[in-house]
Amino acid sequence: MKTKSEQNVKPLYVTRPELPPLEDFTAYLSKIWERRWLTNNGVFHRQLEEELAGFLGVRYVSLFSNGTLALVTALQVLRITGEVITTPYTFVATTHALNWNRIKPVFCDIEPQTMNMDPEKIEVLITPETTAILPVHVYGNPCATEKIQKIADIHGLKVIYDAAHAFGVKRDEQSILNSGDLSVLSFHATKIFTTMEGGAIVTNDPKLKKRIDFLKNFGFADETTIMAPGINGKMNEMQAALGLLQLKEVEESISSRKQLSERYRAFLAEIPGLSFLEEQRGIQYNYSYFPVFIDGKKFGKSRDQLYEQLKKQNIFARRYFYPLTSSFSMYRGLPSAKTKNLPIATKMSKQVLCLPLYPGLSEEEQNRVVGQLRTNLRLGK
Ligand SMILES: *Cc1c(COP(=O)(O)O)cnc(C)c1O
Repeated sequence: MKTKSEQNVKPLYVTRPELPPLEDFTAYLSKIWERRWLTNNGVFHRQLEEELAGFLGVRYVSLFSNGTLALVTALQVLRITGEVITTPYTFVATTHALNWNRIKPVFCDIEPQTMNMDPEKIEVLITPETTAILPVHVYGNPCATEKIQKIADIHGLKVIYDAAHAFGVKRDEQSILNSGDLSVLSFHATKIFTTMEGGAIVTNDPKLKKRIDFLKNFGFADETTIMAPGINGKMNEMQAALGLLQLKEVEESISSRKQLSERYRAFLAEIPGLSFLEEQRGIQYNYSYFPVFIDGKKFGKSRDQLYEQLKKQNIFARRYFYPLTSSFSMYRGLPSAKTKNLPIATKMSKQVLCLPLYPGLSEEEQNRVVGQLRTNLRLGK
C-alpha cells in the first residue's frame, strides 16, 4: 500500500518535451492557413531544412515525417542489400529498418566505455554478403567513426549512422553527423529537438540529397518520371513550423541539460555499484540522456529491483536499451544474435537505467531522484 504522501508526489518521467509558447505556434499556423500549402516541400519545410543545416554544421538536411522512415529510406538511397553489421543495443527501429528492406541484421557487440558498436569486433562479421555498417551514436556518444570508416573503406562498405540521439553533437568542432555516407536523425517527442514526430537524413553529397528527396516523395523525379519505388516520408508544414520554433530554444535546452547532468555526476559519484559513462575528450555533447549502470552485487539490489522501487516513488526511469533488439522473436534465431556473441551488450542492457533529465526538472526534483537512489542502496544492504 502506498502512503498518502507517496500518492501525491509528482510523477517524474525520463523526459518531458519542451514546447514553445502556444501564441508563437498559432502565429505560424496562421501563415499556413493563409498559404494553404500544407505539405510537399512547403515554405516552412524549406526554411527548416536550411536552418537545421546551418545550426548542425552540415551541408544538406532532408526532412522526414519520422526517424524510422528516414532510416528505411537511407538504406534504399544507397541500395543496401544482403547483410548489414549493426548493434543490438539500440531502439528497435534501427533493426526493423533493416528488416523492412529485407536485409539481414548482423549483430556486433558494443564497447563498455561508450555502449557503441565495438570497432574491433566488426571485421570478423564481414561476409561476401555484407554491404554496409549501421552503427548508433548511443546517448549521443560519438562512435569510433575513424576506425569504422577505415574498415568500411578496406572492405568497400557503406556506413549509415543512426544518429537519432546525436542532434548537435560535435567532435573537435565538427558535427558528428558528417561521418559516414549518411546520418539519420529523429525528432520524436522524446528527443531533445522535437517536431512531435519527425526525422531527417543528413548528407554532404548533392546527388544523394536529390535521390533522398525523390525517394521520400514516392520516387517522383518530375511530374511524370518515377525513378524508383519511393515512399511517402514527407514532413508536413505544421511539423516544420514547430521545428523552426524549437530551433530557437535548443541551445538553451542543451545547456540546462548540461547543468543537470553535472549535478547528477557530482551527487552520484562514489555510490558503490552505480557507475555512469565517462565523457570523451573534445566532444560537445547534447546531454540527451543520463544512463547509470547498476551492478546488483555491489549495489545490493538488481537494476530491475531498483527500477520497481523507483516506480513506487513515482519516479519513472527507463531501461534504454533493454531488451537487446537481437533478443526479440523475429531476430533471436539469427546466428549473430546468440548471447555468447554479445557479452558486453547483454551485460550492460541488464544494468542500465536512464534517469529523468530534461529542462525544467527542478533541483528539488533531481534531489528526490538522487535521494531515492541512496535510500535504495542502504535498504539493499
Ligand atoms: C527514436 C529512435 C529512432 C526512431 O525514431 P522515430 O522518429 O521515433 O521513428 C531510431 N533509432 C533510435 C536509436 C532512436 O532512439
